[in-house]
This record gives sequence, structure tokens and C-alpha cells, in this order.
Amino acid sequence: MSLDKKPDRPAPIQLDLFAPFEFFHRPTGTQTPPASPPPRPPVTQFKRDRPAPPAPPLADSGRLRLGDQDIDYLVRRNARRRVGLQVDDRGLVVLAPSRVTDRHIHKVLREGAEWVLRKLSQWRARAPVTRDWRSGAHVDFLGEQLVLSIDATEQRPQVLLLDDHRLSIQVANPDDAAAVRGALVHWFRRHALGHFPGRVEHYARALNLRKLPRTFVSNATTRWGSCNSKREIRLNWRLLQAPNPLIDYVVAHEVAHIIEMNHSARFWNLVESLCPGHDSARVQLDAMTRHYMSL
Ligand SMILES: [Zn+2]
Repeated sequence: MSLDKKPDRPAPIQLDLFAPFEFFHRPTGTQTPPASPPPRPPVTQFKRDRPAPPAPPLADSGRLRLGDQDIDYLVRRNARRRVGLQVDDRGLVVLAPSRVTDRHIHKVLREGAEWVLRKLSQWRARAPVTRDWRSGAHVDFLGEQLVLSIDATEQRPQVLLLDDHRLSIQVANPDDAAAVRGALVHWFRRHALGHFPGRVEHYARALNLRKLPRTFVSNATTRWGSCNSKREIRLNWRLLQAPNPLIDYVVAHEVAHIIEMNHSARFWNLVESLCPGHDSARVQLDAMTRHYMSL
């Protein structure tokens, strides 16, 4: 394991608004100016005789430069005693004691840089995430992990969410992976139809839009949402795997395009006014995109 020879100064977490992948379409009908990040809040200087500023909230995702790469990671906090690292189908996950600081996490990542970079290059080289469609496999729904419980039925396929985070899927042949996935996708789309229009209306009202946009559920595998000049908003049913704040960020993003058909600073200010702290949601969504899009 090679140790980073640089002084142990924690790199700032970059909440980069422009991740390697742009999963939003460029709005049609206007020339899209080059995207620019929203202005950063001014840095407040605290004088010594004033009380120290409150500690920033602990991040649940971040980005750190290791070698010549920017590494995105998720943080899962629990009652453990030491920081652990794992690379699973979501990418790099830092398992951290509940109060550990970003500075300490960065130190552990630098110390484990060789392992992290090797595992991530293996992870990237893998074929698209393959999903397991047998009982006991997991599927994300609104940020919670559900366990699949698959049974045979002679009736129509049925999907039921049970109390104990079990998702019961009944199909003619439980070994038919395509049928199991088909039933699950149908269930997701139905929830998407019930969930998205209300969120679109919420943000449209926040912007005092006189005419509500029309909402459609999309099946794109390369983008989370889109908006066109006919005030039609398309949102990917796969988003329902994500926690609500991530879904809301995408909805707010698309609704803001009704007013600003571009990715200008004005656009990002509008998104921030609808969805305060949207940078964090965007970073988390980027980190999870490969996993969510594999459904
Ligand atoms: Zn956009």
C-alpha cells in the first residue's frame, strides 16, 4: 500500500455540478450556452473574538483527488468503530463511524489509495451491472433496500410491497428473469405515475407558473429527465430507486428549465432556490447513476 507523500492537508470536497456524465438533455429550441456553476457563497471570515462557526454537517458523499483521478464516494455511517472501504456495484463506499470527519475519511482514502484505485478500475472495467432476479436479491425503492420474494402464480403477475421491506413478485415462472423484471418495471412505472406529477406541480407552483407542465414517465437509459419548449417534462421511472431528495432535485431541475432553457448561472440559482443544497443531491445521484440505470 503506497502512502501519499503529500502533506496531510485534506482536499476540499468538490461538489462539482458538472460530473463526467450529463444525464439531463440539453433543452431544445435554444442555443445552450456553456454550462457554468452557480456562484459560490461568499467565504465568511470569523474574527477570533467571535464564537467559532458551527461545524458543517457531515457529508454523505464526496469527491477526492487520488493520483490523477477524482474519486466519488458514498458514506454509510453506523455504529462501527473504524472506517472501512468497500467497492460494490454502487462504486466506492466508505463505511464510517457516525461522527468521523471528512478530513479523517480523506486520510483513510489516501492511505488506501493504491487499493481504491485498483478496485475502482476493476469496477469500471466490468460489464454493465448485472441484476439478480431471484428471491433474496435486492432492489432500491425511494432509497430503501427491498428484498425480492418471488413466487409462482397462475394468475396475472402481481407485485406487492410488504411491511418488512419485502417486495413480493408473483409471476407464472419464477425462473423467468425477464418476466420478473417486467413485473417489477410495471410496478415502478405505476409508482412513477403516482409520484412525479405531484412533485412537478409543487415546483411549478413555487415558481408561480401559470400553466402547469405536462408530466410523462420516461424509459431513457441515458438521462434522468428532460424538458422541452412545449412544457413537457419527462422523468425516468428508474429515479424511484433514489431517496426523495434526489428525485426532488431532478424534478426541480426540469421544472426550472421551463423558465430558463439553458444551464446558465441564472438557471442554477433557480434550481437552488427550489431545492436548497442541490449540489449534494447531484453528487449523490451521479455516484448512484450506474447502479440505478442498471435496473
Ligand atoms: Zn438541465
